[in-house]
Amino acid sequence: MTQFDYDLFVIGGGSGGVRAARIAASDHGAKVAMAEEYRMGGTCVIRGCVPKKLMVFAAGHGAAMDEGAAYGWQVEKGRFDWQAFRHRLDAELNRLESIYTRNAEGAGVTIYHQRATIADPHTVRLADGRRVTAKHILIATGGTPFIPAPYDTLGAWTSNDIFLMDRLPGSMLVLGGGFIACEMAGVLQGLGVQVTQMYRGKQILRGFDQDVQEHVAAAQVALGIHLEVNTDLVSLERLPDGRFRAACTQGRVREFDTVLFATGRRPNTDGLGLEAAGVAVNDGGAVVVDAYSQTNIPSIFAVGDVTDRIQLTPVAIREGHAFADTVFGGTPVAVDHETVASAVFTRPEAGTVGLTEAEARAQGPVEIYMASFRPMQAAFINAETKALFKLVVCAQTRRVLGCHIVAPGAGELIQIAAVAVKMGATKEDFDRTVAVHPTMSEELVLLRKPVR
Ligand code: NDP
Repeated sequence: MTQFDYDLFVIGGGSGGVRAARIAASDHGAKVAMAEEYRMGGTCVIRGCVPKKLMVFAAGHGAAMDEGAAYGWQVEKGRFDWQAFRHRLDAELNRLESIYTRNAEGAGVTIYHQRATIADPHTVRLADGRRVTAKHILIATGGTPFIPAPYDTLGAWTSNDIFLMDRLPGSMLVLGGGFIACEMAGVLQGLGVQVTQMYRGKQILRGFDQDVQEHVAAAQVALGIHLEVNTDLVSLERLPDGRFRAACTQGRVREFDTVLFATGRRPNTDGLGLEAAGVAVNDGGAVVVDAYSQTNIPSIFAVGDVTDRIQLTPVAIREGHAFADTVFGGTPVAVDHETVASAVFTRPEAGTVGLTEAEARAQGPVEIYMASFRPMQAAFINAETKALFKLVVCAQTRRVLGCHIVAPGAGELIQIAAVAVKMGATKEDFDRTVAVHPTMSEELVLLRKPVR
């Protein structure tokens, strides 16, 4: 019988990889090693969800001061001190990184703090030259933002650079209309940067429910962001003073202190040795896996963003856990990728679960219930914040197929609504739930008549 150094070698210390390693080691007694070339915690902890959300809080405190003044507080609002925030952010990320490391090591996982590549179906090559064998290899290398050519040599930014900037720029061009572009535009505008968000398509947040798209677009404008849709870059140049000059399809030429490309992410598979090991990837370079996260090479599995299924941390965690239970726990578990809720941390936030109106209509007759209004907290001070609550209901089964919320705290609200939608709740189930008053989300159980 072949003797391997480890039962499992995980490449990548992010959300998916760490969960898989911990569960395999602590719950199923596997001998596990892991390699991480950068920092433990991966995109979510180091340069994604966590620092982004902390910046959302920071921006929110600025707005809260203005609201507080309108409510009667005597407020003296200064400028946002990025250095002070950054100092605290670095400390927090260090804390979280060490928790990730401690938890993995506490579960018995050996961590190699260096790059690892695949040499063959059972062998990993470490950057220091060592070769390590394992019965199973898990690819959990995540994804990375990129700048499309020909703009990739100018020193423009991706989301990775935001958390490392030394000071806030005065003005910024944000390119893209997806999660990252919308969130970053909102956050940076809220911290005092003059943001222009440019999107090539008809409306931002492509793929989201149309009412959500329009509501968020209006909110971006209300924040003071110059939102330009149906507009793309024609040229970008770096000026001698380091600023950028951008020309767009609308014929405008403008200068910005910096440019953020939030134009998508790609899987981290370059130079990983997949070809040598014979692991199949798709056209975008993502590892192809089956429902159990197994690649075409039986000993090699992959979870998280590197597989390009749903690029969300909690999904990667589920996939990592399911992999460990399947391979080491003797219980095959396929992750259910249906009806996964998500939130875009714009200001206000957008939360969504289930089908959009357009997707539901394509399947059959639907009823749409919707309320758009200024929440009490905003109406009192004539603030512009508006909320949207929308239910997409199947006209035949009465099931709520989709729930879409744009409101302060929508990320929190959609988590709860997602339980009902996942359980198959009907509109009548929502209706017989007594409202919690006075709240914004009571609208969800008070929507009486379909709007269409
Ligand atoms: P998205 O795919 O969401 O958005 C990419 C955007 O860039 C789209 O608007 C796209 O336009 C545009 N784009 C792509 N290529 C070009 C180009 N060459 N020129 C101009 N525009 C271009 O990617 P993100 O990077 O924003 O986010 C990646 C994923 O990470 C998300 O899909 C999400 O799953 C996850 N994420 C989740 C978050 C959360 O849960 N809150 C936060 C951040 C990320 P078009 O629509 O026309 O293709």
